[in-house]
Amino acid sequence: TRGKLAAGNWKMNGQGSDLQQIETLRAALDRGEHGECGVLICPPATLLERMARLGGENLALGGQDCHAAQSGAHTGDISAPMLADAGASHVIVGHSERRGDHDEQDADIRAKAEAAHGAGLTAIVCIGETLEEREAGRTLDTLCAQLAGSLPDGASAANTVVAYEPIWAIGTGKVPQGAQIAEVHDRLRSELETRFGEDGAGIRLLYGGSVKASNAAEIFAIDNVDGALVGGASLKADDFLGIIAALA
Ligand code: 13P
Repeated sequence: TRGKLAAGNWKMNGQGSDLQQIETLRAALDRGEHGECGVLICPPATLLERMARLGGENLALGGQDCHAAQSGAHTGDISAPMLADAGASHVIVGHSERRGDHDEQDADIRAKAEAAHGAGLTAIVCIGETLEEREAGRTLDTLCAQLAGSLPDGASAANTVVAYEPIWAIGTGKVPQGAQIAEVHDRLRSELETRFGEDGAGIRLLYGGSVKASNAAEIFAIDNVDGALVGGASLKADDFLGIIAALA
């Protein structure tokens, strides 16, 4: 069976003074508050090494993006092996903010996921529709195309997590209705099973977009929702622990 995962994406937030949140989180995880749920924080790369020292054995760490190449003349970029070297076990690829801010396409994201796998990292591959696509009735087509194009053939339950993040729900306080999340996750599950067979049944599907402690239990009760990718509510340990409690 698929384990649950609570993943926090700090985005471009966090400095050394915020490491106290990791100390609070660590204390709670050391007490076992997460139960069987996996807990992951993806901080800015500048904090990875310090978090790796503070986080303890129950906190996994991830990058927020990686380059498709292992090394080379790519000023400002970070490679998957570098993230692994800094203490990461995961990396987010294809977040809508990367797709939007840096014009990343499905083929780029697929190459990044391959690079992540090559470095031994689990890739968290993000997909999501715009409000315009939803209102035009193109949600499932859009998501299936993104999923097909962004996942490499080598994706498996061991090295890949898929995160469904409707763009209109990110940072807006708007969350899809339960039936809308269920429709998407059920379809993504069947697409994964069609392409990857037995293994596709094991790939975890996270929901992301305005998840908070107050709505987490309702979202996690939906079939084929295996956890959450959390932005704003992952920045404070107490908020994030409220979400973790709903998965524990
Ligand atoms: P919020 O939880 O702030 O809506 O962000 C979601 C997100 O984009 C996580 O990757």
